[in-house]
Amino acid sequence: MIYIEKSEEPEFLSEFKRKNPDKTYDSEEFAHYRGILTDVLIKEQKGICAYCCGRIKKENVHNEHIEPRNPGKYVSKRSLDYSNLVASCNTIRTCGRKKENKYDSDKFVSPLEQECEKKFIYYGNGTIVGDEYTINLLNLNDYELREARRAVYQQLQHLDKETIKLVYMNEQDEEYQPYYNVIKWYVNG
Ligand SMILES: [Zn+2]
Repeated sequence: MIYIEKSEEPEFLSEFKRKNPDKTYDSEEFAHYRGILTDVLIKEQKGICAYCCGRIKKENVHNEHIEPRNPGKYVSKRSLDYSNLVASCNTIRTCGRKKENKYDSDKFVSPLEQECEKKFIYYGNGTIVGDEYTINLLNLNDYELREARRAVYQQLQHLDKETIKLVYMNEQDEEYQPYYNVIKWYVNG
């Protein structure tokens, strides 16, 4: 997980809410805007999942409500709150798909908290250690995720930190490298 600095609410969303004060994310009226929202979120996160930091593209992503919107039960007032929305990968076993409607706001480490990066550490074998509630809720030690992080770690070991910063952490890049959390940890941790 890396900290996501939210930008201002996009204009299309503000306008939708002005015109449709009673409508939620699940309303028919909003359906058309879901894809536009996805594009904004992917760009904001520089192409990585809010939770696992794997690469996200439009075809493998969903608009994720950190505080669940709970369709069919009660509808969260935050269903169209931009500061509650991130992009998550669609992997069934992890991240937003795994989290679903389970969420305890007192326990969950959110990528929107600046401090979130300090709550996890990464081992060379791909294991993530730290806030147990969040790791379990998102299943961040899933086999495939561990393998992916291990591969990144191995790649980094052949390079010195200055080279890594230059090649993998260029601020000008429009996209982060996949598993940027591991790269950041490796360089700064
Ligand atoms: Zn993910």
